[in-house]
Amino acid sequence: MGFDYSGFAGRRPRVAVHKFSSCDGCQLAFLNAGEALLAVSELVEFVHFAEAGPVDPDAPADIAFIEGSVSTPEERERLEHIRAHSGYLISIGACATSGGLQALRNLYADGVDAWRQAVYASPEYVASLDTATPVAEHVKVDLEIWGCPVNTAQVVGVLHDLLHGVQPTQSRDKVCLECKRQNAVCVMVAKGMPCMGPVTQTGCGAICPRYGRDCYACYGPAETVNTDALGQRLGTLGLQPGDVTRRFHFINSHAPAFRVAGNKHRSE
Ligand code: SF4
Ligand code: SF4
Repeated sequence: MGFDYSGFAGRRPRVAVHKFSSCDGCQLAFLNAGEALLAVSELVEFVHFAEAGPVDPDAPADIAFIEGSVSTPEERERLEHIRAHSGYLISIGACATSGGLQALRNLYADGVDAWRQAVYASPEYVASLDTATPVAEHVKVDLEIWGCPVNTAQVVGVLHDLLHGVQPTQSRDKVCLECKRQNAVCVMVAKGMPCMGPVTQTGCGAICPRYGRDCYACYGPAETVNTDALGQRLGTLGLQPGDVTRRFHFINSHAPAFRVAGNKHRSE
């Protein structure tokens, strides 16, 4: 379903930015907008955005941004409340779209207990779900913006689209296509670096290859990826099976394409 404009004729749309299990880096994508954020704040009313000032997590919102994965029982309940009181819901960042780094615990049967015991002096006071999962596994999500972190242009662009009656979309093109558009020299071909760009969606503008680094897949799987071919190629570049697994499981391990590809090499 598209964005419903009928509810706020004559008033500014209410926008909320909610945080779940995360590092706050994706909220910084808003704050980094600087003057663009000031311009946006004249068009909307930020009803909840703790990093920027207003705090009212129960306020109904026309547009709600969710950062972070669902990792605790409290977050699961809070998310359902937010969904029920929000018009258009957007998950932002790897944590919210694929569980993020914290979803690595999903790969191990005793992961959460073992880590809780190792990290906390009094683990009995820490309430965690067995898994850390994306927002879309719990409630209906209207749009996902991938990335770790998302970039400012993506987030502000989506907000502008909605405010001007345009249904926002996100490109699922591969980073390799972005490299070509940017005239970046391919680090895999030129330097033999194990690059994840052939299976990763862009959004970053191929920033790592443009600086001579390999892509490490922070924007998650692109559409129609051939992870088998890339896994074999990474092996010919000298990566051991465990290293190939880590490449796929690094930031977006709960995304099905990367989870399956990583597990395949883990069992070899
Ligand atoms: S996706 Fe990355 S930058 Fe965004 S909140 Fe999660 S860990 Fe932080
Ligand atoms: S540097 Fe990486 S992302 Fe860019 S074209 Fe080469 S393999 Fe693809």
